Amino acid sequence: MTHTFDSGSFALELLLTGGPPPWDRYEILHTPEDLAAWLPDSHLALELPFSEEQVRISRVELDRVKEFRAAIWRVIPALTATKPVPGIPPADVDAKDLELINQMVGPLPTVRLSAVGRREWETPITGSQVLGAAARELVDLLGRKPERLRMCAGDNCALMFYDTSRPGNRRWCSMQRCGNRNKVGSYRTRRHDDS
Ligand SMILES: [Zn+2]
Repeated sequence: MTHTFDSGSFALELLLTGGPPPWDRYEILHTPEDLAAWLPDSHLALELPFSEEQVRISRVELDRVKEFRAAIWRVIPALTATKPVPGIPPADVDAKDLELINQMVGPLPTVRLSAVGRREWETPITGSQVLGAAARELVDLLGRKPERLRMCAGDNCALMFYDTSRPGNRRWCSMQRCGNRNKVGSYRTRRHDDS
């Protein structure tokens, strides 16, 4: 279901890998190798690809990534408050979560010139650098354009995204998943009114 969903951001894309309950049942990052395998298909590799073998992640770094991910699950709904998260009581933003995000801002993955003058990643890309990139991005998005951080408007859908569209009016995780369901819903309502 998630293959048509674009989170528009690397940090928010992390939410697709699982989270605190009730999202722990979708957890896919059980080992550092799982994270290394997930990264080459993520937003981090969009502009300049890398392979799983070019990533080095420790157990401690994986745990920190998960702490960061849990904080995003709490912070975005509390700060953007477009609708309650299905199954989770609404809460105010916790200063501790913001501090945790701040602490994760750190070293970033770096690029260099290869022997033939092409741009390449300085490898290995470490777990701390991956986390640094995600935290830095989240600080920028939250601090500069919080109104573009949204949860899908679909009922019972908790997918969060950064709206990169020009008009800034994106409502759905994806048309295929929640957008069409809504269209079908309003079509049925109209037909009902007609009859
Ligand atoms: Zn949705």
